[in-house]
Amino acid sequence: MTTTIPHWINGRQCSAEGPTAPVYNPATGDAASAVPMGGAKEVNSAVSAASAAFLEWRNASLSRRSEILFRFRDLLAAHTDDLARIITKEHGKVFSDAKGEVRRGLDVVEFACGIPHLLKGQISENVSTDVDTWSLRQPLGVVAGITPFNFPAMVPLWMFPMAIACGNTFVLKPSEKDPSASVFMADLFARAGLPAGVLNVVHGGREAVDPILAHEDIRAVSFVGSTPVARYIYETGTRAGKRVQALGGAKNHMVVMPDADLDQAAEAAVSAGYGSAGERCMAISVVVAVGNAGDGLVSRIQERVAKVSVGDGLESGNEMGPLITREHRDRVAGYVGKGRDEGAKLVVDGRGLSVAGREKGFFLGPCLLDHVEPGMSVYRDEIFGPVLSVVRAESYEEARDLINTNSYANGVAIFTSSGATARRFQHEIEVGMVGVNVPIPVPMAYYSFGGWKNSLFGDTHIYGEEGIRFYTRAKVVTARWTGGPGHGLVFPTAK
Ligand code: NAD
Repeated sequence: MTTTIPHWINGRQCSAEGPTAPVYNPATGDAASAVPMGGAKEVNSAVSAASAAFLEWRNASLSRRSEILFRFRDLLAAHTDDLARIITKEHGKVFSDAKGEVRRGLDVVEFACGIPHLLKGQISENVSTDVDTWSLRQPLGVVAGITPFNFPAMVPLWMFPMAIACGNTFVLKPSEKDPSASVFMADLFARAGLPAGVLNVVHGGREAVDPILAHEDIRAVSFVGSTPVARYIYETGTRAGKRVQALGGAKNHMVVMPDADLDQAAEAAVSAGYGSAGERCMAISVVVAVGNAGDGLVSRIQERVAKVSVGDGLESGNEMGPLITREHRDRVAGYVGKGRDEGAKLVVDGRGLSVAGREKGFFLGPCLLDHVEPGMSVYRDEIFGPVLSVVRAESYEEARDLINTNSYANGVAIFTSSGATARRFQHEIEVGMVGVNVPIPVPMAYYSFGGWKNSLFGDTHIYGEEGIRFYTRAKVVTARWTGGPGHGLVFPTAK
């Protein structure tokens, strides 16, 4: 009998009724458990619990909040391996990579532990005679997060520790493809002393998302996922009067200049293109080889790709695991054929890969396409798999213009030994996160994360000080404690 993963509402597991969907172990291809596909009923009870918890939590002292966050941080660190194992079993990424994901999530919790400092306002003495003014940032109320399958721990951790540190209460709707990590983290947070109702987890798909977007007690929604859904969430949520940040898909380019260290660039392209089987929003999917960099680069990538060990992420030594579902694997493999049919050169074809003992797993070996052109579907679409496309460009300007006309603008990288070229690139490129000789420039928690154009709808990045701004609203107080000059009916001005 398969187990059904519980919702987490009002500080405890809630057994689910109604329809369920299978949750697969992508390495074996077996349905390992079932996830309840919640809807309005579950969302309503989670929002009721979060609303009831809000008053006490917003009044909790900053010391108490940070103390609980510190304890959560310690529990999360102590359970890194347990959480990483859960991630690998449901997502498929290799265990070492899953541990890296937990570490990057922990960075955000550590940042949120500094909430007493982060919520400091400003004060001006004597804005008028005997009058002082100061600013505060206060929580919004109940806020929600809707997260994708590809980082089942890190992306929720970009959201709920920040929102909760600010004094909000939270309803999380994780991906239905790998939902266990969220419930595990909610349990750890409760063990750290978080009061019941402050963090709730409701499972499901669109039937759970729509009631979140419509619920009038939810003040703000953070979303991370694909661009069409991000646009839908942004438009629907803002129409309902909510504050929304919706991070979308990506097509990240890596420019390799002729003066780059080609060994370093090839290693970086393989790491960023095939790590987590290309299922990262910051994965490199297009390498733009400038001038005569192309042939040397492609041969080096080809050589390294041949050594990538693909298999069950729980078995040590494997560098790349399976894709999330059979349908997604087949879709990605379909792009490889389409790319060749459209005229690209298929240098490495991973479609025939079979992993011994894991024949039913959703595996696809690394694929490399050279001489890809901007009009081809492999260039245009977000593939989200282990498929790296190489585009040849004559010049720096051609590479820059290619990137600046792309509708996605999440991350980008340049490999060069010229500081002047790198500086020109970071100045001219229209992308939210830029790496210089760094292929995956995911900013640390004390900066902020977000793309431009179709990679982010909304006004603020996620986490960092931008996250604090998103999860709070500003209030400015002006006060006098002495009898002062009156203004009569005249609009008050400083005296
Ligand atoms: P997805 O858009 O299919 O799903 C994301 C979330 O939205 C899930 O919780 C899902 O249940 C829900 N959802 C799906 N379809 C919906 C619909 N029609 N209406 C309402 N809700 C819906 O994304 P995914 O496949 O889980 O994740 C991969 C995508 O996420 C990729 O496009 C990737 O680039 C993107 N991503 C972006 C970032 C970023 O920071 N920009 C980070 C991680 C992932």
